Amino acid sequence: MKRTLAILGSTGSIGTQALEVISEHPDLFEVYALTANNQVDLLIEQARKFMPEVVVIANEKKYPELKEALEDLPIKVWAGADAIAQVVQSEPIHLVLTAMVGYSGLQPTIAAIQAKKAIALANKETLVVAGELIMSLAARYEVPILPVDSEHSAIFQCLNGEWDNPIQQLILTASGGPFRNHSRQALASVTRAEALNHPNWTMGAKVTIDSASLMNKGFEMIEAKWLFDVTPDQIKILVHPQSVIHSMVEFEDGAVMAQLGIPDMKLPISYAFSYPKRLKSQMPRLDFSQYATLTFEEPDMQRFRNLAYAYEAVRQGGNMPCILNAANEVVVEAFLQDKIGFLQMSDIIEQMMQKATFVASPAYEDYVQTDKEVRQLTREALL
Ligand code: MN
Repeated sequence: MKRTLAILGSTGSIGTQALEVISEHPDLFEVYALTANNQVDLLIEQARKFMPEVVVIANEKKYPELKEALEDLPIKVWAGADAIAQVVQSEPIHLVLTAMVGYSGLQPTIAAIQAKKAIALANKETLVVAGELIMSLAARYEVPILPVDSEHSAIFQCLNGEWDNPIQQLILTASGGPFRNHSRQALASVTRAEALNHPNWTMGAKVTIDSASLMNKGFEMIEAKWLFDVTPDQIKILVHPQSVIHSMVEFEDGAVMAQLGIPDMKLPISYAFSYPKRLKSQMPRLDFSQYATLTFEEPDMQRFRNLAYAYEAVRQGGNMPCILNAANEVVVEAFLQDKIGFLQMSDIIEQMMQKATFVASPAYEDYVQTDKEVRQLTREALL
Protein backbone atom coordinates (compact mmCIF):
# COMPACT_ATOMS: atom_id res chain seq x y z
CA MET A 1 0.00 0.00 0.00
CA LYS A 2 1.22 3.47 -0.85
CA ARG A 3 1.80 6.09 1.83
CA THR A 4 -0.23 9.20 1.12
CA LEU A 5 1.61 12.41 1.90
CA ALA A 6 0.96 16.09 2.41
CA ILE A 7 3.99 18.28 1.71
CA LEU A 8 3.77 21.63 3.50
CA GLY A 9 6.30 24.05 2.04
CA SER A 10 6.71 22.07 -1.19
CA THR A 11 8.55 24.84 -3.05
CA GLY A 12 11.29 25.25 -0.44
CA SER A 13 14.60 23.43 -0.22
CA ILE A 14 13.28 20.49 1.86
CA GLY A 15 9.99 20.39 -0.06
CA THR A 16 11.63 20.10 -3.48
CA GLN A 17 14.02 17.42 -2.23
CA ALA A 18 11.08 15.53 -0.70
CA LEU A 19 9.37 15.56 -4.10
CA GLU A 20 12.56 14.15 -5.63
CA VAL A 21 12.45 11.29 -3.12
CA ILE A 22 8.79 10.70 -3.97
CA SER A 23 9.42 10.68 -7.72
CA GLU A 24 12.19 8.11 -7.22
CA HIS A 25 9.67 5.83 -5.45
CA PRO A 26 6.30 6.23 -7.21
CA ASP A 27 5.36 2.71 -6.06
CA LEU A 28 5.63 3.73 -2.39
CA PHE A 29 4.38 7.29 -2.10
CA GLU A 30 1.58 9.41 -3.43
CA VAL A 31 1.05 13.14 -2.96
CA TYR A 32 -2.33 14.24 -1.65
CA ALA A 33 -1.59 17.90 -0.92
CA LEU A 34 1.07 20.47 -1.76
CA THR A 35 1.25 23.82 -0.04
CA ALA A 36 3.49 26.83 -0.59
CA ASN A 37 3.82 30.29 0.82
CA ASN A 38 4.49 32.46 -2.24
CA GLN A 39 6.18 30.64 -5.09
CA VAL A 40 3.19 30.14 -7.30
CA ASP A 41 5.07 29.25 -10.51
CA LEU A 42 6.91 26.34 -8.95
CA LEU A 43 3.76 25.19 -7.16
CA ILE A 44 1.92 25.08 -10.50
CA GLU A 45 4.72 23.05 -12.05
CA GLN A 46 4.73 20.63 -9.09
CA ALA A 47 0.95 20.27 -9.17
CA ARG A 48 0.98 19.39 -12.88
CA LYS A 49 3.66 16.80 -12.27
CA PHE A 50 2.41 15.14 -9.06
CA MET A 51 -1.35 15.61 -9.56
CA PRO A 52 -2.32 16.08 -5.90
CA GLU A 53 -5.95 16.30 -4.77
CA VAL A 54 -5.42 19.76 -3.29
CA VAL A 55 -2.92 22.60 -3.58
CA VAL A 56 -2.86 25.53 -1.18
CA ILE A 57 -1.11 28.86 -1.54
CA ALA A 58 -0.68 30.63 1.80
CA ASN A 59 -0.49 34.09 0.24
CA GLU A 60 -4.09 34.72 -0.78
CA LYS A 61 -3.08 37.37 -3.34
CA LYS A 62 -1.60 34.60 -5.47
CA TYR A 63 -4.80 32.55 -5.49
CA PRO A 64 -6.29 33.78 -8.81
CA GLU A 65 -3.07 33.04 -10.68
CA LEU A 66 -2.86 29.52 -9.21
CA LYS A 67 -6.54 28.80 -9.79
CA GLU A 68 -6.39 29.85 -13.41
CA ALA A 69 -3.22 27.92 -14.16
CA LEU A 70 -4.71 24.66 -12.89
CA GLU A 71 -8.20 25.15 -14.31
CA ASP A 72 -7.90 22.28 -16.78
CA LEU A 73 -7.03 19.78 -14.04
CA PRO A 74 -9.18 18.09 -11.36
CA ILE A 75 -7.13 19.68 -8.55
CA LYS A 76 -8.78 21.63 -5.76
CA VAL A 77 -7.14 25.02 -5.25
CA TRP A 78 -7.32 26.68 -1.84
CA ALA A 79 -5.63 29.70 -0.25
CA GLY A 80 -4.67 31.00 3.18
CA ALA A 81 -3.13 29.71 6.41
CA ASP A 82 -6.42 28.26 7.69
CA ALA A 83 -6.77 26.22 4.50
CA ILE A 84 -3.37 24.66 5.17
CA ALA A 85 -4.46 23.69 8.69
CA GLN A 86 -7.63 22.24 7.16
CA VAL A 87 -6.09 20.25 4.31
CA VAL A 88 -3.71 18.32 6.60
CA GLN A 89 -6.73 16.77 8.30
CA SER A 90 -8.02 15.16 5.07
CA GLU A 91 -8.90 11.53 5.63
CA PRO A 92 -6.58 9.83 3.07
CA ILE A 93 -3.37 11.46 4.37
CA HIS A 94 -1.02 9.19 6.36
CA LEU A 95 1.90 11.50 6.87
CA VAL A 96 2.45 15.26 6.83
CA LEU A 97 5.88 16.73 6.04
CA THR A 98 6.16 20.11 7.77
CA ALA A 99 8.75 21.96 5.72
CA MET A 100 7.54 25.51 5.86
CA VAL A 101 9.65 28.31 7.35
CA GLY A 102 9.37 29.51 10.93
CA TYR A 103 6.39 30.04 13.21
CA SER A 104 3.89 29.36 10.41
CA GLY A 105 4.49 25.64 10.99
CA LEU A 106 2.82 25.61 14.38
CA GLN A 107 -0.89 25.79 13.53
CA PRO A 108 -0.95 23.15 10.76
CA THR A 109 1.25 20.79 12.81
CA ILE A 110 -1.21 20.94 15.70
CA ALA A 111 -4.12 20.35 13.29
CA ALA A 112 -2.36 17.36 11.73
CA ILE A 113 -1.59 15.79 15.12
CA GLN A 114 -5.20 16.24 16.22
CA ALA A 115 -6.26 14.41 13.05
CA LYS A 116 -3.86 11.59 13.99
CA LYS A 117 -1.47 12.09 11.08
CA ALA A 118 2.15 11.03 11.44
CA ILE A 119 4.45 14.05 11.29
CA ALA A 120 7.74 14.20 9.40
CA LEU A 121 9.07 17.28 11.15
CA ALA A 122 11.39 19.55 9.19
CA ASN A 123 10.06 22.78 10.70
CA LYS A 124 12.14 22.94 13.88
CA GLU A 125 10.60 26.26 14.93
CA THR A 126 7.41 24.35 15.79
CA LEU A 127 9.24 22.56 18.62
CA VAL A 128 11.24 25.64 19.58
CA VAL A 129 8.08 27.70 20.00
CA ALA A 130 5.79 25.11 21.58
CA GLY A 131 7.69 21.90 22.22
CA GLU A 132 5.81 21.01 25.37
CA LEU A 133 2.41 21.45 23.72
CA ILE A 134 3.38 19.54 20.57
CA MET A 135 4.90 16.58 22.42
CA SER A 136 1.96 16.28 24.81
CA LEU A 137 -0.50 16.39 21.87
CA ALA A 138 1.55 13.79 20.00
CA ALA A 139 1.45 11.51 23.07
CA ARG A 140 -2.27 12.04 23.55
CA TYR A 141 -3.15 11.33 19.89
CA GLU A 142 -0.48 8.60 19.63
CA VAL A 143 1.16 10.25 16.66
CA PRO A 144 4.84 9.69 15.80
CA ILE A 145 7.01 12.77 15.27
CA LEU A 146 9.68 11.63 12.80
CA PRO A 147 12.64 14.02 12.64
CA VAL A 148 13.81 15.29 9.25
CA ASP A 149 16.47 17.65 10.58
CA SER A 150 19.69 15.76 9.75
CA GLU A 151 21.09 15.85 13.31
CA HIS A 152 17.85 14.62 14.85
CA SER A 153 17.43 11.98 12.18
CA ALA A 154 20.96 10.83 13.05
CA ILE A 155 20.09 10.62 16.76
CA PHE A 156 16.82 8.86 15.93
CA GLN A 157 18.74 6.30 13.87
CA CYS A 158 21.28 5.81 16.70
CA LEU A 159 18.43 5.18 19.14
CA ASN A 160 16.82 2.50 16.99
CA GLY A 161 16.36 -0.56 19.22
CA GLU A 162 17.66 1.38 22.25
CA TRP A 163 14.38 2.88 23.46
CA ASP A 164 14.66 1.30 26.93
CA ASN A 165 18.27 2.32 27.48
CA PRO A 166 18.66 5.73 29.17
CA ILE A 167 20.60 8.36 27.25
CA GLN A 168 23.68 9.75 28.97
CA GLN A 169 24.06 12.60 26.53
CA LEU A 170 23.33 13.64 22.98
CA ILE A 171 26.21 15.05 20.96
CA LEU A 172 24.80 17.44 18.42
CA THR A 173 27.33 18.18 15.71
CA ALA A 174 27.55 21.60 14.04
CA SER A 175 29.50 22.60 10.95
CA GLY A 176 30.26 25.93 12.59
CA GLY A 177 29.01 27.76 9.51
CA PRO A 178 30.95 30.13 7.25
CA PHE A 179 32.20 32.31 10.14
CA ARG A 180 33.62 29.62 12.40
CA ASN A 181 37.04 31.27 12.54
CA HIS A 182 35.90 34.91 12.42
CA SER A 183 36.81 37.18 15.31
CA ARG A 184 34.05 39.20 16.89
CA GLN A 185 35.37 42.24 15.07
CA ALA A 186 35.25 40.44 11.74
CA LEU A 187 31.71 39.26 12.47
CA ALA A 188 30.57 42.86 12.82
CA SER A 189 31.10 43.52 9.12
CA VAL A 190 30.12 40.27 7.39
CA THR A 191 27.71 40.67 4.51
CA ARG A 192 24.47 39.00 3.63
CA ALA A 193 26.13 37.22 0.69
CA GLU A 194 28.89 35.84 2.91
CA ALA A 195 26.34 34.61 5.44
CA LEU A 196 24.33 32.92 2.70
CA ASN A 197 27.35 30.95 1.53
CA HIS A 198 27.23 27.86 3.76
CA PRO A 199 30.30 25.58 3.44
CA ASN A 200 28.54 22.17 3.48
CA TRP A 201 24.78 22.36 3.17
CA THR A 202 22.54 23.96 0.55
CA MET A 203 19.43 25.25 2.31
CA GLY A 204 16.84 28.01 2.33
CA ALA A 205 17.88 31.58 3.20
CA LYS A 206 16.40 31.65 6.71
CA VAL A 207 18.05 28.47 7.96
CA THR A 208 21.32 29.42 6.25
CA ILE A 209 21.49 32.70 8.20
CA ASP A 210 20.54 30.80 11.36
CA SER A 211 23.41 28.41 10.65
CA ALA A 212 25.88 31.27 10.24
CA SER A 213 24.77 32.81 13.56
CA LEU A 214 24.54 29.37 15.25
CA MET A 215 20.93 30.15 16.16
CA ASN A 216 20.12 27.08 14.10
CA LYS A 217 22.18 24.95 16.50
CA GLY A 218 20.52 26.57 19.49
CA PHE A 219 17.13 25.76 17.97
CA GLU A 220 18.27 22.21 17.28
CA MET A 221 19.30 21.82 20.92
CA ILE A 222 15.75 22.81 21.95
CA GLU A 223 14.31 20.54 19.26
CA ALA A 224 16.41 17.63 20.59
CA LYS A 225 15.32 18.25 24.16
CA TRP A 226 11.68 17.79 23.17
CA LEU A 227 12.10 14.99 20.65
CA PHE A 228 14.27 12.81 22.87
CA ASP A 229 13.10 13.87 26.34
CA VAL A 230 16.48 14.95 27.74
CA THR A 231 17.54 18.05 29.69
CA PRO A 232 19.54 20.87 28.03
CA ASP A 233 22.51 19.80 30.17
CA GLN A 234 22.43 16.41 28.46
CA ILE A 235 22.92 18.02 25.04
CA LYS A 236 26.48 18.80 24.06
CA ILE A 237 27.12 20.84 20.94
CA LEU A 238 30.29 19.90 19.10
CA VAL A 239 31.67 21.79 16.11
CA HIS A 240 32.65 19.31 13.39
CA PRO A 241 33.44 21.27 10.22
CA GLN A 242 33.44 18.28 7.83
CA SER A 243 29.76 17.47 8.58
CA VAL A 244 30.41 13.74 8.17
CA ILE A 245 29.11 12.69 11.58
CA HIS A 246 25.55 13.96 11.68
CA SER A 247 25.20 13.54 15.46
CA MET A 248 25.80 10.99 18.23
CA VAL A 249 24.27 9.37 21.29
CA GLU A 250 26.26 8.40 24.36
CA PHE A 251 24.70 5.71 26.54
CA GLU A 252 25.17 5.06 30.25
CA ASP A 253 27.79 2.36 29.65
CA GLY A 254 29.98 4.86 27.78
CA ALA A 255 29.21 3.52 24.30
CA VAL A 256 28.79 6.24 21.66
CA MET A 257 26.70 5.61 18.55
CA ALA A 258 27.12 7.89 15.53
CA GLN A 259 25.38 8.18 12.18
CA LEU A 260 27.59 9.19 9.26
CA GLY A 261 26.90 10.15 5.68
CA ILE A 262 27.36 12.75 3.02
CA PRO A 263 25.51 16.01 3.74
CA ASP A 264 22.36 15.38 1.69
CA MET A 265 18.90 16.03 3.10
CA LYS A 266 17.35 13.35 0.90
CA LEU A 267 18.56 10.69 3.32
CA PRO A 268 16.79 12.01 6.44
CA ILE A 269 13.73 12.86 4.32
CA SER A 270 13.44 9.36 2.91
CA TYR A 271 14.13 7.76 6.30
CA ALA A 272 11.23 9.70 7.81
CA PHE A 273 8.99 8.79 4.86
CA SER A 274 9.76 5.07 4.91
CA TYR A 275 10.56 4.46 8.61
CA PRO A 276 11.28 1.85 9.86
CA LYS A 277 12.38 0.65 6.42
CA ARG A 278 15.36 2.04 4.53
CA LEU A 279 14.97 2.79 0.85
CA LYS A 280 17.46 2.02 -1.87
CA SER A 281 19.11 5.22 -2.99
CA GLN A 282 21.32 6.28 -5.90
CA MET A 283 22.90 9.03 -3.83
CA PRO A 284 26.69 9.41 -3.86
CA ARG A 285 28.26 7.38 -1.07
CA LEU A 286 30.46 8.56 1.76
CA ASP A 287 34.03 8.01 0.64
CA PHE A 288 36.27 7.87 3.70
CA SER A 289 39.40 8.29 1.59
CA GLN A 290 38.21 11.86 0.88
CA TYR A 291 38.47 12.68 4.59
CA ALA A 292 42.01 12.30 5.93
CA THR A 293 40.92 13.81 9.24
CA LEU A 294 37.70 14.48 11.06
CA THR A 295 38.07 17.37 13.49
CA PHE A 296 36.09 18.51 16.52
CA GLU A 297 36.09 21.67 18.61
CA GLU A 298 33.99 23.34 21.29
CA PRO A 299 31.59 26.05 20.14
CA ASP A 300 32.43 29.59 21.25
CA MET A 301 29.35 31.00 22.97
CA GLN A 302 30.98 34.40 23.47
CA ARG A 303 31.37 34.97 19.75
CA PHE A 304 28.15 33.17 18.89
CA ARG A 305 25.87 34.50 21.61
CA ASN A 306 22.72 33.03 20.06
CA LEU A 307 23.78 29.64 21.38
CA ALA A 308 23.95 30.99 24.92
CA TYR A 309 20.55 32.67 24.47
CA ALA A 310 19.01 29.41 23.29
CA TYR A 311 20.26 27.57 26.42
CA GLU A 312 19.06 30.49 28.54
CA ALA A 313 15.62 30.48 26.88
CA VAL A 314 15.05 26.75 27.27
CA ARG A 315 16.21 26.81 30.91
CA GLN A 316 13.76 29.63 31.68
CA GLY A 317 11.08 27.65 29.84
CA GLY A 318 7.52 28.91 29.44
CA ASN A 319 7.16 31.15 26.40
CA MET A 320 10.84 32.24 26.42
CA PRO A 321 11.84 30.01 23.47
CA CYS A 322 8.83 31.45 21.61
CA ILE A 323 10.17 34.96 22.36
CA LEU A 324 13.62 33.90 21.13
CA ASN A 325 12.14 32.53 17.90
CA ALA A 326 9.91 35.50 17.08
CA ALA A 327 12.72 38.01 17.66
CA ASN A 328 15.03 35.88 15.55
CA GLU A 329 12.60 35.66 12.63
CA VAL A 330 12.30 39.44 12.49
CA VAL A 331 16.03 40.18 12.84
CA VAL A 332 16.99 37.56 10.23
CA GLU A 333 14.58 39.17 7.79
CA ALA A 334 16.08 42.58 8.59
CA PHE A 335 19.60 41.22 8.08
CA LEU A 336 18.57 39.70 4.74
CA GLN A 337 17.31 43.15 3.71
CA ASP A 338 20.63 44.74 4.75
CA LYS A 339 18.88 46.77 7.45
CA ILE A 340 21.06 45.56 10.33
CA GLY A 341 24.48 44.02 10.80
CA PHE A 342 25.26 40.46 11.80
CA LEU A 343 25.99 41.16 15.49
CA GLN A 344 22.97 43.40 15.89
CA MET A 345 20.79 40.34 15.40
CA SER A 346 22.03 38.96 18.73
CA ASP A 347 21.85 42.37 20.44
CA ILE A 348 18.18 42.73 19.59
CA ILE A 349 17.30 39.14 20.50
CA GLU A 350 18.87 39.67 23.93
CA GLN A 351 16.82 42.86 24.43
CA MET A 352 13.61 41.11 23.45
CA MET A 353 14.19 38.29 25.91
CA GLN A 354 14.33 40.92 28.66
CA LYS A 355 11.50 43.07 27.37
CA ALA A 356 8.72 40.73 26.23
CA THR A 357 6.00 39.48 28.57
CA PHE A 358 7.03 36.21 30.21
CA VAL A 359 4.40 33.49 30.58
CA ALA A 360 5.44 30.54 32.74
CA SER A 361 2.82 28.00 31.59
CA PRO A 362 1.65 29.05 28.13
CA ALA A 363 -1.34 27.60 26.29
CA TYR A 364 -1.67 27.80 22.48
CA GLU A 365 -3.27 31.27 22.64
CA ASP A 366 -0.32 32.54 24.69
CA TYR A 367 2.10 31.44 21.98
CA VAL A 368 0.01 33.27 19.37
CA GLN A 369 -0.04 36.37 21.56
CA THR A 370 3.69 36.18 22.36
CA ASP A 371 4.63 35.78 18.71
CA LYS A 372 2.57 38.85 17.84
CA GLU A 373 3.89 40.95 20.71
CA VAL A 374 7.55 40.10 20.06
CA ARG A 375 7.34 40.72 16.32
CA GLN A 376 5.88 44.14 17.09
CA LEU A 377 8.52 44.95 19.73
CA THR A 378 11.34 43.76 17.49
CA ARG A 379 10.14 45.86 14.56
CA GLU A 380 10.03 48.89 16.86
CA ALA A 381 13.57 48.14 18.05
CA LEU A 382 14.69 48.15 14.40
CA LEU A 383 13.41 51.67 13.71
MN1 MN B 1 20.10 20.51 11.04
